[in-house]
Amino acid sequence: MMRIDGKALAETLRQTLAVRSQGFTVRAGRPAGLAVVLVGDDPASQVYTRNKEKAAQAASMHSVLHRLPVDATQVDVLTLVGALAADSAIDGILVQLPLPQHLDERAILDAVPPEKDVDGFHPINIGKLSLGLPSLVPCTPQGCVHLLRSVGCDIAGKHAVVIGRSNIVGKPMAQLLLAAHATVTIAHSRTANLPDIVRTADIVVAAVGRAEFVRGDWLKPGAVVLDVGINRVQTTDGKSRLVGDVHYDSAMQVASAITPVPGGVGPMTIACLLENTLIAAERRAGHA
Ligand code: NAD
Repeated sequence: MMRIDGKALAETLRQTLAVRSQGFTVRAGRPAGLAVVLVGDDPASQVYTRNKEKAAQAASMHSVLHRLPVDATQVDVLTLVGALAADSAIDGILVQLPLPQHLDERAILDAVPPEKDVDGFHPINIGKLSLGLPSLVPCTPQGCVHLLRSVGCDIAGKHAVVIGRSNIVGKPMAQLLLAAHATVTIAHSRTANLPDIVRTADIVVAAVGRAEFVRGDWLKPGAVVLDVGINRVQTTDGKSRLVGDVHYDSAMQVASAITPVPGGVGPMTIACLLENTLIAAERRAGHA
């Protein structure tokens, strides 16, 4: 069984992107720019946004974190996004989710111009992805494709089962696997006989949000397993730890390769955000 080292792969990708980013700065006369918008003070979002800002800076990009208070109005957020949309130094705009309940998330995501939509959540980018046209692709599923390729997994002709149908992970994951010529099944909360379906999969992507949900005896021997889940669980000594959506210890007995949590899919998400920022910058500058 191979443990797929997402941390190492992300580090390699980030180094390559840093070189590409420096090349962009020389050609364009300015660095690629990423703006991250954080509304409110959710602790996990604060960590994620700070990590994104720091990762962009480490890759020689211009990066700004904009914080708005938890009671910011829809107009406040739309005004900021509008200003970033008009700012020629900014190539990528990321609005950290989840937004506070009183805000209209869809309207805010739609206000990000598609060419600066480095999260790939704008309907234009989602539509282009499903049409097989060049687009900005959501970071987590894109990271999963990189991980599969890194272990030499030939996706074409394989049966891939994606568990989860969210707009940010499950659906774009299925589209990317389809584009890579897999036969794709999307399973979700209403799927009947889920373990039987998963047992037919050569590739399993778990994006459910339920701790250690997929068990080793659900897997076909030799399956490649990507665990997108990030779940915090209490341990008996009163502390907590992160686990994925896959029960790692039983799955590793059966899978041929599997991502750990943490250190698998997570680090690739940020690396792919940097990749998208650079792609957006190169396209805007007419370099790609
Ligand atoms: P979500 O809650 O939006 O979607 C979960 C999906 O799981 C839904 O489509 C639902 O139909 C399906 N589901 C729920 N219960 C199920 C069941 N019993 N059987 C089968 N399917 C079931 O979550 P999401 O945003 O797609 O995220 C999924 C997980 O991935 C979460 O743990 C999240 O924290 C994690 N995540 C990780 C990263 C990363 O960078 N590693 C990025 C995004 C999300």
